[in-house]
Amino acid sequence: MKIGILGGTFDPPHMGHIKLALAAIGRCGLDKLVLMPAANPPHKKSMTNPLHRRNMAALAAEEYGFELCEIEYARKTPSYTIDTLKELEKLYPDDKLYFIIGGDSMLDFEKWHEWNKLITRCAFIVGSRSVAQKEQVEKAVKDKIERFGAEIYVLDFLPEEVSSTEIRNGEAEEEVPEKVMEYIEKNNLYKRF
Ligand code: ATP
Repeated sequence: MKIGILGGTFDPPHMGHIKLALAAIGRCGLDKLVLMPAANPPHKKSMTNPLHRRNMAALAAEEYGFELCEIEYARKTPSYTIDTLKELEKLYPDDKLYFIIGGDSMLDFEKWHEWNKLITRCAFIVGSRSVAQKEQVEKAVKDKIERFGAEIYVLDFLPEEVSSTEIRNGEAEEEVPEKVMEYIEKNNLYKRF
């Protein structure tokens, strides 16, 4: 089976994540799409309580027919993707794994912990976060393929230019999936709505 994994802080999940996931399914013919919320991402100061972020990712997954993976959520220490991948390989020994990332993550990739081991250990699917970013992302991907023989697919789609930060700031609430919005309202998150 081909399994796509989209990790994130999901604070909150938005249509940028959903569009990225759906395009990845179409591009690589994925059989299963898994959203994987991080409890303590090493590169970000976690803002909203991890349980709320996990619950919002679960609702987004339910709404779009994805699954939820709690490996990183369950680990309370910072999760490095290389460690997560090792766990996922044990969990899905007979499946092919694809990590799905946004263009910003691809451009930052060489800052990731043990990125040079990670780059050839699984396949990657990359979607630019903006039209302006596309060219730079394609160049970075080409470089990784040439230098390391990495298996990376670039999505040829119109990016949904939205971020969780904008939503937390009370902008672009139309980019929040319906069930996630209900959860936000019920739990009084992001008070500026
Ligand atoms: P924040 O604004 O809090 O930094 P974010 O919108 O970047 O959050 P994350 O949950 O950190 O959301 O993102 C998880 C993954 O999804 C990352 O690889 C990121 O690049 C990717 N991603 C997020 N938003 C988009 C988008 N609009 N288009 C494509 N990829 C995206």
